[in-house]
Amino acid sequence: MPSLATQQDFRDVQKLSFCYLCGEEFKPSDSINRDHMPPSALFEKDDRDVPVILPTHYECNAKEHVTDEFIGQFIALIHGRTLKLGHRPLDATVVQVAGKPITFTRDLNLHHFIRRCVRGFHATLYHEWLPSNTANVFHPPARGGQFDGDTGEPTDVVQAMLIADNGLEQHKLFSYVLKQNRIAGSTDIVISRNGKCVYECVWTTFDNGKPICIFGLKIYDWQQFEQFDGQPPRGCVGIYSPATGRPKIATRATELEFPFANSDALDPFGR
Ligand SMILES: [Zn+2]
Repeated sequence: MPSLATQQDFRDVQKLSFCYLCGEEFKPSDSINRDHMPPSALFEKDDRDVPVILPTHYECNAKEHVTDEFIGQFIALIHGRTLKLGHRPLDATVVQVAGKPITFTRDLNLHHFIRRCVRGFHATLYHEWLPSNTANVFHPPARGGQFDGDTGEPTDVVQAMLIADNGLEQHKLFSYVLKQNRIAGSTDIVISRNGKCVYECVWTTFDNGKPICIFGLKIYDWQQFEQFDGQPPRGCVGIYSPATGRPKIATRATELEFPFANSDALDPFGR
């Protein structure tokens, strides 16, 4: 049951022999970068210790900088709880749907960011490479929409995304399984950045026997973002299924049932 939280715990992963982004083993001639994952810019100064640092090829890491350009927006998102309606971060737009204000964010960035974190934490916990094309379903901590490049207004896709919100049952199920296994003590966990970044996961199987990892990711109180709209807290959960199977040291899900309140049904780290 890997549970990592201290500088000592994170020492080994700094010496991984492969790049968690491309999967290649490092060669003596490679120029190697130390990737702070997630990036330090996301965290307030007092919260920057202890970071997870993974070695990457310099070139592989540089490709991620496009995403990192959105980090500024992301900080606003994460600290959005202190913002009021009308002072929204730039990447969020409020639209009226059926008379209710709904917040939309640039979903693609969130997906990209979540995938990078999942791959980073997979390498941190299991010292294995997780290819970027690994089958996955992510439920970000905010609903997503698309924006018109010229006007910045949400497009029709917003309506489609609302329909996609019926994925909520799946979101609740993943959250439930994580909470259940937290009570049972059968999760793998990485706590970094002064406790402001928590990644927790558990391993189970599909009906067809394929292994799946169900994970939750919490950065500050980003599950509160949707509460501007009077929505219940919505955390980040998801699943992925590596082609190479379940890592040997990964923790299997409990088959026991433990009663709990589950009042925050959409938040894997909630009650
Ligand atoms: Zn690489």
